[in-house]
Amino acid sequence: MRFLGSIHIAVGILLLTIGLGFYADLKTEQMHGQNVQIQVGLERLVRLNQSLTSAISLAVTERNSLRAASYNSLQTELEATMKKLLALTSHMTLAADMLALTEEQRELRAMENQAFAHMREDRWAAAHQDLLGGNYVMALKLYEINSESVVGALNIELTNAAWQQDQLRQASVVLRLAAAVLLLWAGWRYSSRLKAELAEQVRLRAEVTQAKEVLEETVKSRTAELWVANSQLETLSTTDSLTGLANRRRFDSYWAEEWGRAQRQATPLGVIMLDVDHFKLYNDHYGHQQGDACLQRVGEVLCAAVRRAGELAARYGGEEFVVVVPGASSEQILETAQLILTALRALQTPHASSPVANVVTASLGVASGIPRESDSPDRLLKAADVALYEAKSRSRNCVVLSHTA
Ligand code: GH3
Ligand code: MG
Ligand code: MG
Repeated sequence: MRFLGSIHIAVGILLLTIGLGFYADLKTEQMHGQNVQIQVGLERLVRLNQSLTSAISLAVTERNSLRAASYNSLQTELEATMKKLLALTSHMTLAADMLALTEEQRELRAMENQAFAHMREDRWAAAHQDLLGGNYVMALKLYEINSESVVGALNIELTNAAWQQDQLRQASVVLRLAAAVLLLWAGWRYSSRLKAELAEQVRLRAEVTQAKEVLEETVKSRTAELWVANSQLETLSTTDSLTGLANRRRFDSYWAEEWGRAQRQATPLGVIMLDVDHFKLYNDHYGHQQGDACLQRVGEVLCAAVRRAGELAARYGGEEFVVVVPGASSEQILETAQLILTALRALQTPHASSPVANVVTASLGVASGIPRESDSPDRLLKAADVALYEAKSRSRNCVVLSHTA
């Protein structure tokens, strides 16, 4: 903020110089007025002295003291003029000269008074001698010379004072120029500073915009990553880890949705319940790990069977599976179940301990129906389960269609 300080200084200097200018002008004006008054006063003084001298000289020449009647009033006027001049010059160096001039005047008056005294006594020759003798004439001459030298001294003093005022004015002009330069400099500094601040603001704004863009980009990519992670989580939470089919959780919600849709649209909904035959024996014979591998193969068969949109194969629990076929009539669901059983058998997975066949087989219960208003979603599932139970009790390795659905 140094340039602001400079502005203050410059304004201060400008105000000071304006004040100085006014002061110098006022002083010059005053001096001029005083000068005129002093000059007029001095001229008047000389003239009054001359008038006094001529009045008294005429009186002596004509031997008539009454001829000097105007003498007293002239003298009063002269004294008043002198007093005024003394007051005007009291502060000046020529005050001493003025006092000397007063003294000379007093001497002149004394000589004239002596002449008057001789006139009153009718001693005209003596009075004549007083005024036309050398002393009075000399004193008069001296007075005139001195008053002229006072005028000269006055002019010199006034010239000096005028020179000083001029110097003051010139100094004030120089100061004004300096203040103007200072103002220009401070203004230039201020504008450069403003420009620099503006450039900095633009730079910061660009940085902020860039940072914002980077942040937005990061947020976008993080959101995408999160979306992928969420969908992976969603898939994980709805997928059976062993077979890759939908898990029970997914099946439950899917079944509720499809049941509702079929109910609203009054379309058939088919379901297959599949249970591997004598799987406990399989585990016992081949071990649990082989049992897992067997369940995975069953899963592949089911996955291959559900190709059309809306169909879903899920692991219902343990070695039980379920297949949902929306829109399937009893015949169609029966046919699908048959195909699944055939495909499973075709795998020819050995099951040495099975009393039903020497390969892995399954029992399937199927049901299909159009959900009624009053129906519960479990009805079809229960019907398929009952059919499955029947398949188990019949011979296993077969498909039974529910007739209650
Ligand atoms: P059924 O023909 O009457 O169905 O006889 P089953 O032996 O298949 O029926 P049961 O319900 O008696 O036995 C089911 C077996 O399935 C018992 C259990 O150990 C086995 N099992 C359930 N889940 C798994 C699994 O994830 N892996 C393996 N390896 N075995 C499982
Ligand atoms: Mg079972
Ligand atoms: Mg079983």
